[in-house]
Amino acid sequence: MELNPAPDHAPQAGRPAPDLVVTGRRIVTPDGVRPGAVHIRDGRITAVEDTDTAPPAAPRIDAGDQYVLPGLIDSHVHFRTPGLTHKEDWEHGSRAAVTGGFTTVIDMPNTRPATNSPELLLAKADEIAGRSLVDHRFHIGLDPERPELLAELDPAVATSSKIFMAGHHTAPNVVRDFATLEKAFAAAAQGGVQLVLHAEDDELFSLLDGWWGAPGSYREYEARRPRSAGIVAVAKVLELVRRHGTKAHILHLSSAEEADLVCAARAAGLPVSFEVTGHHLAFTDEDTARLGARTRLSPSIRSRTDQERLWDAVREAQSATIGSDHAPHTIEEKTRSVQDSPPGLPGVQELAVGVWTGLCRRRRSQDNSDRAAELLARCLGSGPADLFELPGKGRIAPGADADLAFLDPGATWMMSAADVRSKCGWSAYEGWTFTGRITRTLRAGRTVWDLATGAYGAYDGRFLAGPAPEGDRRG
Ligand SMILES: [Zn+2]
Repeated sequence: MELNPAPDHAPQAGRPAPDLVVTGRRIVTPDGVRPGAVHIRDGRITAVEDTDTAPPAAPRIDAGDQYVLPGLIDSHVHFRTPGLTHKEDWEHGSRAAVTGGFTTVIDMPNTRPATNSPELLLAKADEIAGRSLVDHRFHIGLDPERPELLAELDPAVATSSKIFMAGHHTAPNVVRDFATLEKAFAAAAQGGVQLVLHAEDDELFSLLDGWWGAPGSYREYEARRPRSAGIVAVAKVLELVRRHGTKAHILHLSSAEEADLVCAARAAGLPVSFEVTGHHLAFTDEDTARLGARTRLSPSIRSRTDQERLWDAVREAQSATIGSDHAPHTIEEKTRSVQDSPPGLPGVQELAVGVWTGLCRRRRSQDNSDRAAELLARCLGSGPADLFELPGKGRIAPGADADLAFLDPGATWMMSAADVRSKCGWSAYEGWTFTGRITRTLRAGRTVWDLATGAYGAYDGRFLAGPAPEGDRRG
């Protein structure tokens, strides 16, 4: 951290004048929340200073009493390109993202065709070029026919791979047998690939569906997708991590037992981590009775006890990331029969303010607002940046990309369908009153969303290839 209390307004020796300065009283840095000035030049942060020492002519944006967060990272979105763009596309998905303070997303491979090969992944990057407000990377899908491909995955293409151990009955590419799963873990360990897993036991689901038939209501659906399936699958993942040393990030934990299992494995030194989603933090099984298909999710939304265990995981920094699992479907798809309505909801726009609202409601006496802002910057910033090796992302520090999000911490507002930016046009949070609002988002030093004007910026988000040598990232 550079500290420059120089009283004069001359450019600092050896450093060109900034082309933008962001000032504020609550800048969320890796060292804590502090007043100061963020100097930006050519899309990068050049300095974070205690006082505004930049030349008077430099353009300024004053965040005042709002929190200035690092541009947020959502490591779990489904933006539906290619092949499913009737549900979502990158123009809409990335508008939802920047409206919610996100400047980087990692997109999932269950597209049509599934993004299961380096060739298809690079074709997806080409298709998105010029259509995204956010920087992006992709989790490559596991080809169940060729799990050994992970051993030679080029990190410039992808550094992580998604494995579905269970899925909707129409989902392709579910890895249902343990032998294939083990081959994938061995290959990923060899290739240094970070696995991200949907860990539920599909065999149990098939048995229950076979015995009981199609569910007639959402309560019946949840009974066919019990917590035990998650617990069993997490135990299998931990055993494979123990055998092969594979880096594994378990997505959307839904129960207290799964969180306890992964925490115990981490404490024992295994390279395993987990994600909590915004919807498992926001909703409980009591909401499902009211919201029906809108909260048909996989894994299911569980009890209030589970929800509070997941909040503890966030507050005690046990969860490495919070993901939106932004998975839009059209209203028509969501109003099909209980059996045929696909699981998933849109959520990238609502994620940060939803987590902020929850943290405010659960504030303990010793907590203060700054501590909550630091948690947000960790779970949606440095946590995913470190786990997925996103250089220059997730922190407000010299040398980082000038990605910033302003959070007005006390603003209260009710979400309506008119606020929804996802192409699907609905939100499970309609009618919610949020505490906190994202008022401005900058990527690479340029405003990509401004609440005051409603304007969006340039659709020139970059495909973030994997880790490259220092200084050789921005071509
Ligand atoms: Zn997902």
